Amino acid sequence: MTSMTETTQLTFQNPVTRYPAISPPQQSQPEPGLDLHLSPPADRGENSYRGTGRLEGRRALITGADSGIGAAVAIAFAREGADVAISYLPAEEEDAVRVAEIIAAAGRRAVTIPGDLAKAVFCSEVVEKAASELGGLDALVNNAGKQISVDRLEDLTDEQLDATFEVNILAQFRIARAALRHLAPGSTIVNSTSIQAYRPSPHLLDYASTKAAINNFTKGLAQQVAPRGIRVNAVAPGPIWTPLQVSDGQPTEALPSFGQNTPLGRAGQPTELAPAYVFLTSAESSYVVGETLNVNGGSPSP
Ligand code: NAD
Ligand code: MG
Repeated sequence: MTSMTETTQLTFQNPVTRYPAISPPQQSQPEPGLDLHLSPPADRGENSYRGTGRLEGRRALITGADSGIGAAVAIAFAREGADVAISYLPAEEEDAVRVAEIIAAAGRRAVTIPGDLAKAVFCSEVVEKAASELGGLDALVNNAGKQISVDRLEDLTDEQLDATFEVNILAQFRIARAALRHLAPGSTIVNSTSIQAYRPSPHLLDYASTKAAINNFTKGLAQQVAPRGIRVNAVAPGPIWTPLQVSDGQPTEALPSFGQNTPLGRAGQPTELAPAYVFLTSAESSYVVGETLNVNGGSPSP
């Protein structure tokens, strides 16, 4: 049984020290990186996230759910009672299998759907597969993203420019469009955007532009489908420790100080994002529509 003191320790925590202020060693992985090889490992809530039935019976598709923020959201959704389809790149199979095991251990259905969201046809295939395997679909989390740091615009190739827009914003249009025919009133869409939408880093021009587009898409689509009882919102993370950052997402020399310039003085852990996605997906946020929830350690945002 949990004592009063233990309960207080869980419910009253200093956000500065709740997670360690990490100073990751310089490291590099080929894109897409794996959580399996991240040093120090990221906290996706495996040993901490406790559900309270807030998504009981829901059927969710989460893209990029093999690692990082998407994995933390998938773990939280399952522990809140949802069955979850996770989409990821074939190269991420090891990470995906681990997340699927955690979902299954929560007593929920896990469906794994590898494939490349830069391909338009796969964006509808992933939705149809998720809906048929889960017996329907009522929650979508558009979370997959590509971030490659390039110092000078002259060095940004057409190939990268196209790929960043395909994965980060065009796929969100295509997946949402395919999902709509499955989404009954009460369903939700949550898009992953970024603080980069308002405070672009000079080395992330293509990435940051897509994130601004995601905020705009979220607010527009939210108004379009609200009368149908479908809510669309976004979450804008600040610096979160995930494989995205070590697979050319940041210059490697920036990694040791990653996230230390936030008011909390530390990078965020993926599990600290999960409650925002749970809130925006659960019925308790019924009057929250077209909102971007900033989870960024205190950096001012509009
Ligand atoms: P991550 O690398 O763990 O997750 C990104 C995922 O996107 C990958 O796991 C991969 O499965 C998926 N993906 C990338 N390209 C794909 C493709 N072509 N086809 C299919 N899937 C593809 O990193 P993360 O940081 O958890 O990123 C999740 C989301 O959060 C992204 O949209 C990212 O832009 C956003 N975000 C992250 C941070 C951060 O600091 N980590 C900050 C702001 C926003
Ligand atoms: Mg991954």
